[in-house]
Amino acid sequence: MGDGAGGERKTKSILIAGAGPAGLTAALELARRGFVPRIIDDGQGPVPLEESRALGINARTLTLLSASGVTDHIVAAAQPIGHFRIRSGAKVLADVDTRRLPGRFCAIHGLAQGATERLLIAALAAYGIAPEWQTAVDAGIIADLLKPEVTLRRADGATETVRPDILIGADGAHSAVRKALGAGFPGEALEAYFYIADFRYAKPVDAHFAEITLCDPGMLGRLPVSADVLRYISTLEDFEGRIVHPEVVAEKTWASQFRIHFRHVEPMAKGNVFMAGDAAHIHSPAGARGMNLGIEDACWLAWLIAEGREEEYSALRIPAVKQVLKQTYGLTRLVTMKNPLAIAMRNLFAPSLLRFGPARRRLLHSIAGYDTPRPPWIDWAE
Ligand SMILES: Cc1cc2nc3c(=O)[nH]c(=O)nc-3n(C[C@H](O)[C@H](O)[C@H](O)COP(=O)(O)OP(=O)(O)OC[C@H]3O[C@@H](n4cnc5c(N)ncnc54)[C@H](O)[C@@H]3O)c2cc1C
Repeated sequence: MGDGAGGERKTKSILIAGAGPAGLTAALELARRGFVPRIIDDGQGPVPLEESRALGINARTLTLLSASGVTDHIVAAAQPIGHFRIRSGAKVLADVDTRRLPGRFCAIHGLAQGATERLLIAALAAYGIAPEWQTAVDAGIIADLLKPEVTLRRADGATETVRPDILIGADGAHSAVRKALGAGFPGEALEAYFYIADFRYAKPVDAHFAEITLCDPGMLGRLPVSADVLRYISTLEDFEGRIVHPEVVAEKTWASQFRIHFRHVEPMAKGNVFMAGDAAHIHSPAGARGMNLGIEDACWLAWLIAEGREEEYSALRIPAVKQVLKQTYGLTRLVTMKNPLAIAMRNLFAPSLLRFGPARRRLLHSIAGYDTPRPPWIDWAE
């Protein structure tokens, strides 16, 4: 099965709302197949470099971005995460060597979202396409789903009405496109909040492992962002006092907090309007799947559009979305449990389970993003 790249210039007009990771990937994957999509975003530019946000890039994403050449740049810039440890106090409950995953790529790399977005923007520029910043899609209610009409509103107040052949809503969790379709966003919000802080150290630190410390109740995660920046993520508001810094702190570069939601839209398309990334699904950061799943949506959609099979998009993506929501829900429940008996059972059984092949392999498989359907246009082993 070909990937549809190269060949003649395609004439279908495509508007992508949102230049986050999902929208940029959709634009790039369409551009390398001969389309000239228009991509707009109401922000001023990509996410600032110091905001780590979604920093895990899994092996499946590296497979998907190989064809555009972005993978080589990501691998050159990112930190391969070779070990994933779970601790309870000083005791190491499990140490999963992610390098034992067979295949071309390390299961997961760490790179700040802003850096990933800049690499996608640079690759897109090679096709003469640049995101139009400070331009919001104001979709109202989309009446004609086959030839959707939307208004674009620029920062100076100027407006423009467009009627693309295809509209892709990659405009994030509060998607205007999703609302204009009248589609709900069913699901639930957990009580738990996640708190994040990134620290830059005076000297490089060991950035080759990620770690979760179970605080019972609650957790504190340590994830590498770069050679001298670590992210700490926790369910505990007072988590900063629990951090054992590996080096002298030069500065706290970023802090954030958010409530966890598990939601997805179904179907993920109506007529010629498609939703991808956070516009279509949101879940907890446990497992580092969010951005990766959005990039995957974008790659599948671009391939299906090039094949003239875009009506299959929703049916092909929904099983992958449900699988990831289920997996991240399970992981989140494991690290946010409060019942002392349940905590004791988890701490007793999880380490021995992870010592055995099948459970360890399943965990590695999902960290790598290999638990969703393999992209059929990729004809080499992952
Ligand atoms: C503060 C914060 C912290 C986060 N931390 C983590 C984390 O720790 N781990 C993790 O895995 N994920 C995290 N995320 C989520 C992660 O950033 C998303 O999963 C990922 O960015 C999804 O990519 P996307 O392209 O689908 O959407 P987004 O990155 O949200 O991109 C959507 C784009 O659409 C634009 N847009 C919105 N409305 C309109 C409109 N009407 N018209 C035009 N453009 C519009 C926005 O400006 C934005 O650039 C965080 C998100 C935020 C906001």
